Amino acid sequence: MPTILLVEDEAVIARAVEFALRGEGFDTLHCLTGGDALRLARTQLFELAILDVGLPDIGGFALCRELRRVRDLPVIFLTARDAEADRVLGLEIGADDYIAKPFSPRELVARVRAVLRRSNPPVAAPGFDHDAEGHRVSFRGRTLSLTRYEYGLLAALLQRPGAILSRAQLMDRVWGGESDSSDRTIDTHIKTLRAKLREIDPQADPIRTQRGLGYSLQVD
Ligand code: CA
Repeated sequence: MPTILLVEDEAVIARAVEFALRGEGFDTLHCLTGGDALRLARTQLFELAILDVGLPDIGGFALCRELRRVRDLPVIFLTARDAEADRVLGLEIGADDYIAKPFSPRELVARVRAVLRRSNPPVAAPGFDHDAEGHRVSFRGRTLSLTRYEYGLLAALLQRPGAILSRAQLMDRVWGGESDSSDRTIDTHIKTLRAKLREIDPQADPIRTQRGLGYSLQVD
């Protein structure tokens, strides 16, 4: 089930939100401050963030910008009641939704589901066919002969075509806890992966380098 990051400094609210989300099968990670959330975001993956606008350190909007520096992420803001300025600003910076306190946990869960549905439309990476169970990927109808790490990288990119994955995220997904690998390791495997794709189609370059951010897979 999707993991949700909850950043809320009011313990009572946080507990209620966590309880409601867990009851619906979501995993939650809770932080009390923006700083904790940013530290957590370096090592943990989550599909959506619920951010309190009024946090004790950096504030929900700034936190949203920082989190999205790493990757695009659906965000729901928790705002004080009738704080219209907050709502306008939240929407301006690309909030997927906001919810005013006090709110019912059930309403929040419904919003979470709706945002996740909207943000995960089935997107196809043209040319690829992924057999996740067999750990095989074919490109333009031809099965790729991949090393374990090449496969891992490609499978991670194929999971969300078009989404940018940072090197830290790729490292986390493919290498797990093996700490002796570096950003350079990822770049090396991406390079060999690209060469194998070019063998099938010399014109194709479906793996995009996102300068300073990471990699993504080209979509239609
Ligand atoms: Ca607060």
